[in-house]
Amino acid sequence: MRKRIVSAALALLLLTQAGCLRDSRPVEGTTFAMDTVMTLTLYGGWDRERTKEGRDWMMGRLVYFDQLLSAASETSDVARINRSNGQPVEVCELTARLLDQALALCELTGGALDITACPAVKAWGFTTGEHRIPSGEELAALAEKIDSSAVRLEGNMVTLPEGMEIDLGAVAKGYAGDQSRETAQSYGITSALIDLGQSTIVAVGGKPDGSPWRIGVVDPAQPEDYFAVVELEDMAMGTSGGYQRYFEADGVTYWHILDPETAAPARSGLSSVTVVAPSALTCDSLSTALFVMGLEEAAQFWREHPALEFEAIFVTEEGEIYRTAGLEGRFSLAEGYRDREVTVLE
Ligand code: AMP
Ligand code: MG
Repeated sequence: MRKRIVSAALALLLLTQAGCLRDSRPVEGTTFAMDTVMTLTLYGGWDRERTKEGRDWMMGRLVYFDQLLSAASETSDVARINRSNGQPVEVCELTARLLDQALALCELTGGALDITACPAVKAWGFTTGEHRIPSGEELAALAEKIDSSAVRLEGNMVTLPEGMEIDLGAVAKGYAGDQSRETAQSYGITSALIDLGQSTIVAVGGKPDGSPWRIGVVDPAQPEDYFAVVELEDMAMGTSGGYQRYFEADGVTYWHILDPETAAPARSGLSSVTVVAPSALTCDSLSTALFVMGLEEAAQFWREHPALEFEAIFVTEEGEIYRTAGLEGRFSLAEGYRDREVTVLE
């Protein structure tokens, strides 16, 4: 009997070694990039060593994206574009592809998303943490300079008019999320959660047991709590909220999401927007844009753009909750919030 147990254990060990059984332990990784902690939880690879290689490659890439796209780093592609004084600058393929998609999204959102908001973001002190309130005159001059349609992209050459600067803070995490998902899949990883921090998350497949990933949506009024849970399977989710980065002066809260029309914090009546879509870039870019648009315009944008395959959850400054109809069966209120009313947008 004992002999039989030993040989069964040996057979199991050999099967695992031969890669015939999936390893149920996650391969995990944490890195700091794009001003935030990013966490990878990877399951389901047939070969654990290969999953670890995938993790290491993904973590290296996340740091590389940061080096390419950060406006703060002196040597990034974005910094070189911003110092170009109106001259064409050659950027790497990854930057050019993101710029191409980001510029299209700026146009599609009617300028609610605008990657040339950088000088205004700087003027409010959001890049340095030395916050200040620019005067009305200064804001008018800054708003004049925000215009993504003036950015020229030809192949890998970027030309930005003098005096303008770009900031990919609203889209870079989403792009990095989509790239990470591609890497995970190319390493045979069938189940993973890629958390890019500050509410951008990519679910590869479902959980190892086959059920969907369950992700909390932060309550903007109490950011340590989740008011809702969204079930994700091969899907991304991104949240933009006034609570994520802000400062207060004389009882007024000034947050980091700016309205390109005024160069001032977007006061659209919303306090957070969460977008669920197959593409993390869609989630990241649209959560920022819909926040700027406000509930009515955002709901109309959702109705008019089914091709973007996104759904959304809105929380107003009064704490009202709205969600789009396509989240039926994937959205539920969290414990402690079950008595809250949710208006379904059709
Ligand atoms: P997110 O956290 O994805 O909503 O992006 C907000 C960040 O993008 C800010 O910290 C700014 O760096 C930048 N930003 C702010 N307002 C806009 C806007 N309307 N369009 C594009 N980028 C913006
Ligand atoms: Mg965003």
